[in-house]
Amino acid sequence: MRIASLFVAVIFVLGLFGCTTEERTTLGGAGIGGAAGAIIGHQSGHTAEGALIGAAVGGLAGYLYGQHKTKTTADGTVVNYVECPKCSTSLNLPPTARAGAKIKCGSCGTTFILK
Ligand SMILES: [Zn+2]
Repeated sequence: MRIASLFVAVIFVLGLFGCTTEERTTLGGAGIGGAAGAIIGHQSGHTAEGALIGAAVGGLAGYLYGQHKTKTTADGTVVNYVECPKCSTSLNLPPTARAGAKIKCGSCGTTFILK
């Protein structure tokens, strides 16, 4: 039953990431995963173990998402985005965007080259 619970926790954490439009980071993933793991671990009498496993799973998920720089919108569409180097606004990229493309931030007006 414990393995089944862990499996549910992993699905829960991944589902959580899939549903948010917020930027995902390794730190945020570890924090959310750790919290979810601690709750689940507490219920099965292993709070610390649950938190560690949750942090590892959540951190990994956050790391992977962070590297890919994609996010899922409310309607389930996966979009590529890049952060403005000046104001850190998330700018959606068209599917055709490639490295070297010139991007203009709609928030602060900074123009930069996509890496
Ligand atoms: Zn900007």
